[in-house]
Amino acid sequence: MIEDKNQQRTQLSDLGEFGLIDHLTKNFKIKQESTVKSIGDDAAVINPGKKQIVVTTDLLVEGVHFDLSYVPLKHLGYKSVIVNLSDVYAMNAEATQVTVSIAVSNRFPLEALEELYAGIEVASKIYNIDVVGGDTTSSTSGLLISVTALGEVNAEDVVYRNGAQPNDLLVVTGDLGGAYMGLQVLEREKEVFKVNPNNQPDLDAYTYIMERQLKPEARKDIVKLLKDLDVKPTAMIDVSDGLSSEILHICKASKVGCDLYENKIPLDPQVISTCEEFNIDSTTIALNGGEDYELLMTIAQKDFPKIKGNPNLTVIGFMTEENIGANLVTRAETKIPLQAQGWKNFDS
Ligand code: ADP
Ligand code: MG
Repeated sequence: MIEDKNQQRTQLSDLGEFGLIDHLTKNFKIKQESTVKSIGDDAAVINPGKKQIVVTTDLLVEGVHFDLSYVPLKHLGYKSVIVNLSDVYAMNAEATQVTVSIAVSNRFPLEALEELYAGIEVASKIYNIDVVGGDTTSSTSGLLISVTALGEVNAEDVVYRNGAQPNDLLVVTGDLGGAYMGLQVLEREKEVFKVNPNNQPDLDAYTYIMERQLKPEARKDIVKLLKDLDVKPTAMIDVSDGLSSEILHICKASKVGCDLYENKIPLDPQVISTCEEFNIDSTTIALNGGEDYELLMTIAQKDFPKIKGNPNLTVIGFMTEENIGANLVTRAETKIPLQAQGWKNFDS
């Protein structure tokens, strides 16, 4: 579907490893004060001052986490950074640096890696982070990308998963299920394309959910918003595996239960209409879809006036005593225990 615009194919071996690293990273500019030494030595040097450093890493594997037949490499580079920044923001920290490690087979020409790094560069500009290192190696099959992100946070501001209390409000940012439904559309179009390569898909009705899948954003803005509102969540996590499993993580770590209200779950109209088209229940998608990269948090009741009516923050339930368990309160007002459905990668 998405044609490789670069007809040119420069063999990676023409550059050599060091030439390649230099070529891919020569445009990266230092933006963060805490970056003392970036790419080019044996290790990067970071000076956090009085702050605490948060570290998080993710590994993306071709065929498991992404399919290059419909994911453009530039988007993949962008997304590989975003998924890590999302984890940093979930600690209520500011993201500052990333390292990027890649394993590539000789099936990829230089032009493909240029695309990948163009996406990484765009993300680093938008999110104001430095790419301070990485590793480059060959692979016998496919592409692997591992990104490690660093962030800074004042000791008193850091938010863990384990601070939720009974009666705290359960709050989520943005809307849910879009990334998963975007993937459903892409996979359907891939099958159509296999049968008829001349059939150009009309994806106008799916622009929002395709963007949620292909070009997700991390909620840097929410960390700032919470500061501006003078609200420190009692617990926070990013929504990467689906609402259900994230709620269960908070409940387990905090030793609390929760009532989640089905009718409060924020859904974009495009998610609702696409769910209807695919004949899937939209609540199931929001609970188990994953890859939304929104933030899920618990907030003390006393802070409710500060968040009330804010379009970025939706109250979807409240925390309870642990023995009540984590439940979905359906539109019919029956209670169903929430189930974790993360770890989809190991299913098949
Ligand atoms: P070493 O042999 O000490 O591991 P490398 O030759 O792998 O060093 O890396 C040289 C420099 O380039 C280091 O600063 C490293 O962090 C950086 N680097 C290597 N690969 C990448 C990459 N794919 N993206 C960004 N920086 C990289
Ligand atoms: Mg190395």
